[in-house]
Amino acid sequence: MTSRSTKARTISGIQPTGDITLGNYVGAISEWKKLQDTTAALFFLADLHALTVERPPGEVYQTAVNHASWLLACGIDPEKATLFVQSDVREHSELAWHMQCVASFGELSRMTQFKDKSESNKFISAGLFTYPALQAADILLYDTNVVPVGDDQKQHLEFTRDVAIRFNSRFGETLVVPEHHIPEVGARVMDLQHPTKKMSKSADSPQGTIFLHDPIKTIEKKIKRAVTDTESDVRFDRENKPGVSNLLTLLSVATGEDIDALANKYTQYGPLKADVAAAWIEIIEPIQKRYAETSTAEVQTTLEKGATKARAIASDVMDRVRSAVNGSR
Ligand code: AMP
Repeated sequence: MTSRSTKARTISGIQPTGDITLGNYVGAISEWKKLQDTTAALFFLADLHALTVERPPGEVYQTAVNHASWLLACGIDPEKATLFVQSDVREHSELAWHMQCVASFGELSRMTQFKDKSESNKFISAGLFTYPALQAADILLYDTNVVPVGDDQKQHLEFTRDVAIRFNSRFGETLVVPEHHIPEVGARVMDLQHPTKKMSKSADSPQGTIFLHDPIKTIEKKIKRAVTDTESDVRFDRENKPGVSNLLTLLSVATGEDIDALANKYTQYGPLKADVAAAWIEIIEPIQKRYAETSTAEVQTTLEKGATKARAIASDVMDRVRSAVNGSR
């Protein structure tokens, strides 16, 4: 058995597709930075998940390394957290098979994310359908205690708990059943041009999306051209003033100041946009500098070390699963 710290173990992943956005930074990476300080955290580049839709050869791994460089530049610290590429730990696929065999076709069919995603894909892979079983394996493979998930992933976590409980009742207590933890206010960053839509990596709206790699001048321009509305007062009202509310959220996240206090400070959109741009440039500029200074070879070494640490935990859990299923030989 590997030694276990007394801290709760948490795990979180990001799909290596597209380019990292300000939305990822606010919604995931900054939360991960808190988790690495308070828990025994594992973070992974979910390359197997990215294969549920067709990708050109080599693209997913290359993107995984690139995303890892950004994560490191943003302050994910491999001394505190375990950072690795999912497919480097083969046990993910092995446990996923066991999870598919304890999951029912009916419960997988009820997953709303599958319904949404299969509508937008021409080729619907079997992997897209069984994806929650791989996600369950990602979590259960590390005896994870707590999983920080947004509202959209709650159904998958319930599924994970259900299959873990079912596995344990068939084969004896083997898997740790995780709890979920919905992050408190998990700020949602909206598209700057379509502020009722989430800012997204799959950017069909490049002008509304801030990428961490955008030149500083571009970031400034995108924020200054953000859609607001025809009124001119500054107040937080997501429904009637989604653009202005998004700008206030962004400023609040960057400065740590209260949204309503910020709203009271401004009477015009121009100065608000200028301050949002300045605040985020101050955060993004040093990240870009660190990113530029990191070599691909260094990142790959970090990922290999991370995979070795992750494998040490995963192989123990997988041994338990094999013994439970096969009995003593
Ligand atoms: P994705 O880019 O969809 O693979 O998401 C990776 C992580 O970033 C997930 O934890 C998302 O919840 C988070 N995330 C992505 N876009 C946003 C956004 N616009 N606002 C807040 N969080 C986001």
